[in-house]
Amino acid sequence: MVFKHLNYLDQVCLAYACKQLAVVFEHVKPHKLSGTKANRLELLLRFRGWMGPGYKLCCGCLMFVKKAANGQWGGDVKLLDAQAPGKKPSIKKILDSGPRCVDCARRDRINALKARADVQSMKRKFRLAFGR
Ligand SMILES: [Zn+2]
Repeated sequence: MVFKHLNYLDQVCLAYACKQLAVVFEHVKPHKLSGTKANRLELLLRFRGWMGPGYKLCCGCLMFVKKAANGQWGGDVKLLDAQAPGKKPSIKKILDSGPRCVDCARRDRINALKARADVQSMKRKFRLAFGR
């Protein structure tokens, strides 16, 4: 059986090819994919070509999000298009700086502002405590 010669991600992709293969996959799957963000992103990257033109992969929420006209996506969109073997970015790099939907981009900006405010607050407290 061809399933046994494939890694788990390839097995999942093959199972999505048709209902019969999905049934076979349910019977032969030897282990479960660990639920890390990297594994999920790797799987979604394989399905990217199957999605309709109205959907884009968001590396923040790890979902295909419908393109919306109300806002600008964040992150580096070109990261997903680099397909050359030597220039293909790592999954970690795509997770960290890949494209973000409008909501994720907004959340990233808010978190960055909060982190900056925390640093300024800590500096202020340090100055008060140590007089520097
Ligand atoms: Zn998102």
